[in-house]
Amino acid sequence: MTLSANLDGTASFPVRLRADESAVLLEIAQAAGSTLELHEVLDRVAEKTAMLTGADRCSLWLLDSSHDRLLPAAIYGIDPSFAARWKRKILAIKDECLSQEAITTGQPVVVHDAATDPRTDKRAVDLFGDKSILVVPLANKGRVIGTLFLNHISRPYWYSPQEIAVIQAIASQSAVAIENAQLYDESRRQRLEILASFRRIGDALAAGLDLSDTLRLVVELATEMLRATVGGLTLRREDGTLGDTQWAPADTASHYALPPHLLDELVGEVIRNGEPLYVADLCEYWQGHLHGVQSAPLRTCVGVPLHLRGQVIGMLGVFHALPKRFSPVEIDLLASFGTQAAIAIDNARLFAGLQRQVEELSAAAARNAELYSRLQLEKQRLDVIFQNSTDAIYMADRNARIVAFNPAAEILSGWTAAEAIGACDSEVFPSDQDGSTSLHDATRAVLESGASYSTVVETTILPRGGTLRHVAASYAYVPASNDEGPFALAVVRDVSQQKEVERLKSDFISMVSHELRTPLAVIKGYAATLLNSSLHLDAERQTRFIRGINDASDRLTRLIDNLLTGSRFESGRFKLSLQNVDLAEIVRKVVANSRTGTNGHLLHANLPSEPMMLRVDRDQIEHVLVNLVANAIKYSPEGGEITLGLRYECGPLAPADLSREDPANQRWAVLTVRDQGIGIPSHQIRFIFDKFYRGDSPAVRRVPGTGLGLYICKSIVEAHGGYIWVESQLGRGSTFYVALPEE
Ligand code: ADP
Repeated sequence: MTLSANLDGTASFPVRLRADESAVLLEIAQAAGSTLELHEVLDRVAEKTAMLTGADRCSLWLLDSSHDRLLPAAIYGIDPSFAARWKRKILAIKDECLSQEAITTGQPVVVHDAATDPRTDKRAVDLFGDKSILVVPLANKGRVIGTLFLNHISRPYWYSPQEIAVIQAIASQSAVAIENAQLYDESRRQRLEILASFRRIGDALAAGLDLSDTLRLVVELATEMLRATVGGLTLRREDGTLGDTQWAPADTASHYALPPHLLDELVGEVIRNGEPLYVADLCEYWQGHLHGVQSAPLRTCVGVPLHLRGQVIGMLGVFHALPKRFSPVEIDLLASFGTQAAIAIDNARLFAGLQRQVEELSAAAARNAELYSRLQLEKQRLDVIFQNSTDAIYMADRNARIVAFNPAAEILSGWTAAEAIGACDSEVFPSDQDGSTSLHDATRAVLESGASYSTVVETTILPRGGTLRHVAASYAYVPASNDEGPFALAVVRDVSQQKEVERLKSDFISMVSHELRTPLAVIKGYAATLLNSSLHLDAERQTRFIRGINDASDRLTRLIDNLLTGSRFESGRFKLSLQNVDLAEIVRKVVANSRTGTNGHLLHANLPSEPMMLRVDRDQIEHVLVNLVANAIKYSPEGGEITLGLRYECGPLAPADLSREDPANQRWAVLTVRDQGIGIPSHQIRFIFDKFYRGDSPAVRRVPGTGLGLYICKSIVEAHGGYIWVESQLGRGSTFYVALPEE
């Protein structure tokens, strides 16, 4: 580059510039037009302008969107490392007098002497050593986009008006190139953003976002993509009504949200037509619908239908607060974005539906699992009850065939469960045909009536290989379920023992009343006869009557003693009062007393000469002997001898059937009572010491008795640590033995 020097020492334009202005402009246009990259265009313009004008430095400043600030865009003529720092220096227009003047006037500003000119930034002038500065507005068709600075630092430069005009032409040429590059830059950025939006909606589709997140994302992306103020998405419900509108972006949407009736108008039209709708002026569009609304807060709108499988599922709209034109490309773009979004929404709906189904299924599965485990627990409990119940439990099907049979039922019936299952309950629990309702009858009745038996069935059964049992059964009806049933469930209790106790009780009461009444009648008879003064009884008869009264009183006393002792045993109140007693003396006393009660028997005692001292309860041992002697008399109707004995014995005495182990050297005092009476059948011997047991032979039944005497004897003897047994021959007599241990 050649600079021509003026005579006054100032520099002037290169000759080429003067010579051909259009060539200069072409060169600028070529340089700027060789690329569409904004920063390259800016750099080239700065470089080319400096070179063509001969300026030492050329810089370009661009106005920001607010038009309040200048952004450093390109610089030529300084160290590149410094240029990078310079590019960060944003200037407020009010602080930059030269640019402010150039922008406001639209005219070039010339500074001949930078050092003294009040408009220059002195720090910059000092730093760069600027001499003269020319600032030209970068303007295209009256639109200013920034300023162009040309600085001369080696010497001052005087621009001729022609030069300034050329430079103005360069600036405007550059402004066109810069605006082109800016537009290109903008459209590329928009393209990239649109691509990103489509990609994000695609990602949302793949990610399976939930419905509300998908809707929000769609609206946000559409609003961003078309640089709109707000966006709204309204979906149509199954029944054709419109759902709530999803607005975005969140921070501004609430301010602009439209009254639903206005929006519905718009959405309705888009859905009806299935075509995009561009409304340049919403106020005009809503005329007649704006009742109560002062003015629509939004001015322009594009709404596109959301098509899905041949249906319109809603509308996606973008709105501008200020009037704005939408190009057909933008509308198309929004429409295809809407199609993409409809798929994403459908996807989210399907996903949500699927998720709901999965949740419902898993909740149902959890409920089933819980139910199952509760049933298992219940079944286990029932099983434990079924297996361990002491009552027999069985279940019979509609044909009264047994389908379940518990261990207690096995014991009661004598059938194993394996044998019983499948058999009819009439076989397993045969009734003894006593006319009462059998278990089988009850089963049938329950199955036929379809209702549980309200009363307990009391009947008798004949178990296999057993004796008659009294049972009480209750029945439940089990209705059919799952192709099974109905069933009758029976709980059968063996009440034989209670029945026996009941029988014994009533026998006992009648027996005791009879036993009391007999001696009392005797006493009464004798006493009345004795008191009858008209009868003059001789002494012998009087004595006989009095003895009769005495005997009957003895019987009463014995009976009452036995009853009292028996009840003391039962209630656990029986206590021995031990003392050293001569057993021989007791025997003597009992023999003496008993003699008065009989004429036909010969009572005598074989006693040792020495006293036989033993620590016993005197009264109780006497009670034993009185009972045994009374029995000997009672059960020897033909009279005969009754002999009482007393001796010592050593070693184990127990008869074989008494499973006792006594020390080998144990000493015993053994009392015996022998009679020559009716004797005891051998099969009865093991029962005679049982409570209320009485022999069943006519000879026994003829004499009064309670079946308590021997039971009391046994209890008293065992309370002393001794034992009692009998040896007997039928028709020949019996010997009762009472062995009491010596301490
Ligand atoms: P009770 O004499 O009131 O019937 P016990 O308990 O005294 O009741 O006797 C039970 C049964 O033993 C009697 O019913 C009888 O059959 C039999 N028994 C008791 N003592 C004798 C005896 N000395 N000789 C024959 N049988 C006897």
